[in-house]
Amino acid sequence: MPRSYVLSRDQDGWGAASSSMNRGRIGVAAMGLGALERAIQVAAFYASHRRLGKLRMIENSYIEQLFGQMVLRREVVKAMLAASCQLVSAQGAPNVHLASATKVLSSEWCGLVADQCVQLLGGRGYDEGAPLAKIYRDARSLRIFEGPTEALLSHLGRCLLSKATRDEIADLFRSVGAASGHAAAIEELSGLNETDGAVLIYAGWLTTLGLSKAVMSAGCFSASDCAAAAAHLVSSELATLRTRAPARQSVEVRNLASRTLTTFLERCGLFDSLTCPHGRLP
Ligand SMILES: Cc1cc2nc3c(=O)[nH]c(=O)nc-3n(C[C@H](O)[C@H](O)[C@H](O)COP(=O)(O)OP(=O)(O)OC[C@H]3O[C@@H](n4cnc5c(N)ncnc54)[C@H](O)[C@@H]3O)c2cc1C
Repeated sequence: MPRSYVLSRDQDGWGAASSSMNRGRIGVAAMGLGALERAIQVAAFYASHRRLGKLRMIENSYIEQLFGQMVLRREVVKAMLAASCQLVSAQGAPNVHLASATKVLSSEWCGLVADQCVQLLGGRGYDEGAPLAKIYRDARSLRIFEGPTEALLSHLGRCLLSKATRDEIADLFRSVGAASGHAAAIEELSGLNETDGAVLIYAGWLTTLGLSKAVMSAGCFSASDCAAAAAHLVSSELATLRTRAPARQSVEVRNLASRTLTTFLERCGLFDSLTCPHGRLP
């Protein structure tokens, strides 16, 4: 490439690419928030007109609670986004860890809410021409581009566990007033295999939800009167996550899963094609 085409110094490319991706992740989180809000609006409009027996659908207590929870998810995503943007204003650049956690939370919860709203509209939600089906399909891509959820969670988990980067995550927790949340996560993860994929994803979720809880508790990122209820939702998500903590002795379980997959693939004639690099689906 001619020297005159080079925009910066040698080796500056990675820095430029990662800065652009971190800003992009905040942008994707904002898209997730917008799609999540629109999905709730469309579903709430439908539920307030559709009758289930004598009541309007929105008066059914189950559906009322579901909408309540969706609105709380919106509140948490909005506060995380505000916290990410505030750091951009204060430091001139996104905080890489907070931007990743915000992108993961927004895209995952947008997907969840879009799915719940499709269900609420029944066949009218599934119909390709309907607004919700489009939101549902587009929401799906937010979990993949600008870093798939699993890649970002693994990265966050690795940063939390690695001695070289642990202080960066500790500083971030401290900056949102939750130093003890960081210490508790480290304590909880001690003794687990730091290179295990499942452990890294779990540690990434602990970081993401831990930061969300801190952001909600800080009180300065959400002026809403449902902020306390939203913080409670994050606490119960953390409690649910902990019921799925990776086991310390998971080798036998992993071997069993691997044997089960092998048996399944052998039965459908796929095992050999998987071990061969040019294998094709039968
Ligand atoms: C709508 C859309 C728009 C896009 N726009 C652009 C664009 O403008 N520019 C651009 O460069 N790219 C773009 N992409 C590509 C996108 O960035 C990639 O699809 C994405 O980074 C995933 O890479 P991949 O498709 O190669 O999947 P792979 O790298 O093969 O990953 C596949 C899956 O593996 C899993 N995985 C990945 N890492 C881990 C891990 N560490 N632990 C566990 N599981 C893991 C995840 O589930 C992931 O989805 C776009 C994609 C979509 C869907």
